Amino acid sequence: MGRELEGNVERAAGYLERFKAEPLGHFIGGKAVSPGGRDLFDNITPIDGSILNEVVGGTAEDIDLAAVAADAAFEAWVGTTGQRRREILHDVADGIIERADEIALLESIDTGQPIRFMSKAALRGAANFRYFADRAPEARNGVSLPDTDHINYTSRTPIGPVGVITPWNTPFMLSTWKIAPALAAGCTVVHKPAEWSPITASILAEIGQAAGVPEGTLNVVQGFGETAGKSLTEHRHIKAIAFVGESNTGSLIQAQGAPTLKRLHFELGGKNPVIVFEDADLDRALEAVVFMIYSLNGERCTSSSRVLVHESIYDEFTARIAERAGNIRIGHPLDPSTEIGPLIHRTHYENVLSYLSMAEEEGVTVAAGGGAADTGEGGLYVKPTLFTGAAPEMRIAQEEVFGPVLTAIPFDDEAGAVRIANNVEYGLTGYIWTRDVGRAHRVARDLEAGMIWVNSENVRHLGTPFGGTKASGIGRDGGDYSFDFYMETKNVSIAYDTHTIPRLGT
Ligand code: NAD
Repeated sequence: MGRELEGNVERAAGYLERFKAEPLGHFIGGKAVSPGGRDLFDNITPIDGSILNEVVGGTAEDIDLAAVAADAAFEAWVGTTGQRRREILHDVADGIIERADEIALLESIDTGQPIRFMSKAALRGAANFRYFADRAPEARNGVSLPDTDHINYTSRTPIGPVGVITPWNTPFMLSTWKIAPALAAGCTVVHKPAEWSPITASILAEIGQAAGVPEGTLNVVQGFGETAGKSLTEHRHIKAIAFVGESNTGSLIQAQGAPTLKRLHFELGGKNPVIVFEDADLDRALEAVVFMIYSLNGERCTSSSRVLVHESIYDEFTARIAERAGNIRIGHPLDPSTEIGPLIHRTHYENVLSYLSMAEEEGVTVAAGGGAADTGEGGLYVKPTLFTGAAPEMRIAQEEVFGPVLTAIPFDDEAGAVRIANNVEYGLTGYIWTRDVGRAHRVARDLEAGMIWVNSENVRHLGTPFGGTKASGIGRDGGDYSFDFYMETKNVSIAYDTHTIPRLGT
């Protein structure tokens, strides 16, 4: 074991100690709550299958307690000035930075995501809080719309207590995308983190409390989707649900939220294309293609899991990807040199492996990887994989695998590339590599996706709209788009007393 890995393992064990001492419970009304006599479940690390800690499985009663606490806290939080919310949320960001090492190490052993990415994810969480903290004082602002006989103006008010339901791939960072704008807007929050990665949500709640987020304003209920998650989506006090996860779960939540008319924001799955034209800067394109599928274990909604390559450069370019994939370092996620760690959970790992055998049955060529990787620790490792010779209609080219698995498809012209790119049920992101400006604009216009990057990997600007089309989502995050979701817009129309009011009964 290298010295840095050893140090990381030791520090992670130290941070974990208190979670081992007693089951991880909820955080409701400003207090850690661990209901006794309840079902506990084991939180297992994908590094070697050992138990990290026990977690309380939240029930409908726990959700009710949290929703009631969020409802009770709403009036005071709405009444807190935007300036004060700004200060508190900056203090949350400071708290995240102070505990960034703990968050990154625990997230890494909880999810299997390599520490090289998780250390940045913790800091990005802080950046999300700062960004929305600075916007809190103006969150209520609207527009002025003068007309002939009336002046109209709009303003925004927070919608009320909201539910945030998050997945396990980069749990801490993703949750801050939702929780920071919700709190900045003046909403109170009940967060239900993913059952496979429960730890860091409780740390964010602690940081919030230490930073002065009032009791009941940020609550966390641990547990499973079918129980705690479902109850949250059905609760009458909860006005909106911000959900990140699978498209099928989104459908369930839509149905569950219908009786209480929930406002919904969905960030769902993807099968994103990266299109490499023959005139592209192929060296830069190669770096981006490799990064966008093999970073974060490929467990990334915006990963470019289909590479569409012009037929004139297909063989050479895919050979270069295969060479890189073969060199990627698989290993313990706390080793700073590791590029791919173990996949989150045995169920997910087996699902990814099933796609690998299915692809071979479909007749693709395995250009790199293609199976499990044995690192000798018994962890859930999958080799970075590249399939070539895939046809667009194959399942490996259509379905989200959510692992380090790339499918390469050749195309003959621009129209063909767009047709293949759009021929999936998803529409989250698209990546275009070309030096032809006109072509870049045409393809960006024609791709069915919420976010397009030209000559770039996914680089996020927090003010830009983030979200997907088709089965990839409903609604947008980022900047003012987030406030539109967490707030109600009200229009006030005032007459100049000049217009004729229609007269009845004269
Ligand atoms: P998932 O849908 O299985 O679970 C996500 C969350 O929903 C978990 O907290 C889970 O407990 C909860 N849940 C499950 N059933 C529920 C129900 N009936 N009611 C309420 N809550 C319920 O997703 P996952 O496997 O944890 O995450 C992977 C998925 O997330 C992938 O499809 C990925 O593309 C997607 N994702 C999307 C984005 C994006 O921005 N578009 C970002 C990250 C991940």
